[in-house]
Amino acid sequence: GASTPPPKVAHKKPIVIIVIGMAGSGKTTLMQRLVSHVQSSKKRGYVLNLDPAVMSLPFTANIDIRDTVNYKNVMKEYNLGPNGGILTSLNLFATKFDEVVGLVEARAENLDYVLVDTPGQIEIFTWSASGAIVVEAFASCFPTVVCYVVDTPRSVNPVTFMSNMLYACGILYKTRLPLLLAFNKVDVAKHQFALEWMEDFEAFQSAVEGDQSYSSSLSRSLCLVLDEFYKNLRSAGVSAVSGEGIVDFFNQVDKSADEYMESY
Ligand code: GDP
Ligand code: MG
Repeated sequence: GASTPPPKVAHKKPIVIIVIGMAGSGKTTLMQRLVSHVQSSKKRGYVLNLDPAVMSLPFTANIDIRDTVNYKNVMKEYNLGPNGGILTSLNLFATKFDEVVGLVEARAENLDYVLVDTPGQIEIFTWSASGAIVVEAFASCFPTVVCYVVDTPRSVNPVTFMSNMLYACGILYKTRLPLLLAFNKVDVAKHQFALEWMEDFEAFQSAVEGDQSYSSSLSRSLCLVLDEFYKNLRSAGVSAVSGEGIVDFFNQVDKSADEYMESY
């Protein structure tokens, strides 16, 4: 019979922003800033906290993992350390994640953005089955953007910058979702150096090789990998604390979501 085109799974709205990044990069503070920007620009947001171990949340969450699992009880019950407790809590929560997506779907018509905070330690989310379940569950329903938060002042060293970018590259490779780098804390250090290194492969390579201890052939190969990586992402310089760059950040989010709509 005549073949019908497959149904389009992705709705136009809302756009899901999953905020990930190294511990202390400023995910939760950035979330607070994003939530308040969405509110003040009269957009409609839905907010999820997936960090079971956060002490106090500086924003109001519609869904908070802490309402479902108590990670300290999980630690005791399964005889785990803090990281194991956080990971197991996320795993327990992930088994019910279709319900979470169902709640968002029910309100989709009335939402512009879904903002998702993730556990402090990045690998709990990026190297776990539950992180993949969460990403996949959203990405199969809504345009989904991964926001990788970079601690800009801590990335001014070229070798540190390189390892941070390689980590981000691994995330792009694993999720295959549009990736947006948020160079955070520009109130402390401007991200101009990062833009220059991302634009000019040779400038970056000579910065890395200024450190004699790094093999130049490996450095050259890695710089080439990153040069290719940069072509596949967007970036914005922001300060979660001062609010600088947030308007541009949302412009980049919207463009990333358009890319998602074109490619999925
Ligand atoms: P998370 O572990 O990634 O969630 O990071 P947090 O949001 O808890 O922030 C870690 C630390 O960085 C806190 O002391 C924040 O106040 C600080 N911080 C976060 N964003 C900024 C920023 O834009 N500028 C400055 N100066 N500090 C920031
Ligand atoms: Mg946090």
